[in-house]
Amino acid sequence: MGALTELDDRAIDALHEQAAISYGTFKKREVRLNMARGKPALGQLDLVERLLDLPGRGNHVAHDGTDCRNYGGMEGLAEARALYARLIGARPENTMVGGNSSLALMHDNIVYSMLKGNPSSPLPWNRAGRIRFLCPTPGYDYHFNMTEEYGIQMISVPLGEDGPDMDRVEALVAEDAAIKGMWCVPKYSNPTGAVYSDAVIERLARMPAAAPDFRIFWDNAYIMHHLTEERIETANLLTACERAGNPDRALMFMSTSKITFPGAGLAVFASSETNMRWFLASASRRSIGPDKINQLRHMCALPDESALYALMDQYRAIIAPKFDAVYGTFDRLLGDPRVATWTRPKGGYFISLYADGCARRTVELAGEAGIALTPTGAAFPYRNDPDDRHIRVAPTTLSADEVGLAAEGIALAVRLAASEREKARRSLRV
Ligand code: PMP
Repeated sequence: MGALTELDDRAIDALHEQAAISYGTFKKREVRLNMARGKPALGQLDLVERLLDLPGRGNHVAHDGTDCRNYGGMEGLAEARALYARLIGARPENTMVGGNSSLALMHDNIVYSMLKGNPSSPLPWNRAGRIRFLCPTPGYDYHFNMTEEYGIQMISVPLGEDGPDMDRVEALVAEDAAIKGMWCVPKYSNPTGAVYSDAVIERLARMPAAAPDFRIFWDNAYIMHHLTEERIETANLLTACERAGNPDRALMFMSTSKITFPGAGLAVFASSETNMRWFLASASRRSIGPDKINQLRHMCALPDESALYALMDQYRAIIAPKFDAVYGTFDRLLGDPRVATWTRPKGGYFISLYADGCARRTVELAGEAGIALTPTGAAFPYRNDPDDRHIRVAPTTLSADEVGLAAEGIALAVRLAASEREKARRSLRV
């Protein structure tokens, strides 16, 4: 399987001509498909439709006697805290279940830190001069947009298959006291599917930090979202940080947005006792308590790990064939000659497609052929993909047939964009 650059000029011309014809034919099919975001498919939502009938009239009391109809219980229902603490690997007393969005909990951690400082801060972050966050890239656009919103400077560090480039991370965090935080999606990352290795997690926990109030935002959004039979487990950052003498470094998040209903699930935050006390004190200035009825609803429908795993297995049966449809099409159309490369994640919601130097043009061509993709650059701070190469593919929402069709349109767009680019490169050379 040769790369495009290894083909002779005639072969490139032929490829380009044929790519233009295939793309033109595809365009005439007037496909309209949206692959821009990784939402669950309707068939997944139907599997949890029963939640809409729960907890049911007359059923409003939690295990410990809490009447869920009334105010209070900022940290969440005890049974929900216990279950999600086990999943995330934290102590129940240091775990809160609150609200419907883990992003909102990350946001509040940032805003409280900006306005008041976290428990280790010499000064509130907004009075500490310019502050910075490390951003493993490709990464999650909502993270980057959030830090950008508050004027936090973002520093990209390359994300490999087993986590960020730790030599760079360690050097930066040790030297620069302005680095107050770091975004991490440790398992089946959005968008590459990377899984942080135990060695990387240990280094994150141990590394010396110039800023005493440095925090790792550990967003375990895909903690149970396996795509193969292997249920990958990652090392526990919270206990690694405790062992390393940095007990307040880890802020861990997850939610059931892609387990039950996005926008109507449960969000979870766990950290050290000190951080939880600090967070809950501020949170209790913001609200009198969470939606305990939704927590009860979730506990009725999915009371334990085995219920959650059984549901996630059903989702896998729906989702995995869609990923396979993408691989099959990409292998066929992009494998020989090798026009692009892509990840084959073992979990999560996304595939990263790499089309060196022509991602922007590919997304444009795909859009003109009726396939909406995440805008290029979204996976990078300031929307700047320095090599113009990353494209996020989100197979979950469409049906398997539609995914195959969308993948074909994307692949044809890559072939056209890459051959165009290669021709242009050669014409500049002479
Ligand atoms: N983090 C990551 C990495 C995600 O991919 C998503 C969903 N796209 C979220 C957070 C959103 O989480 P929530 O719905 O809990 O706010």
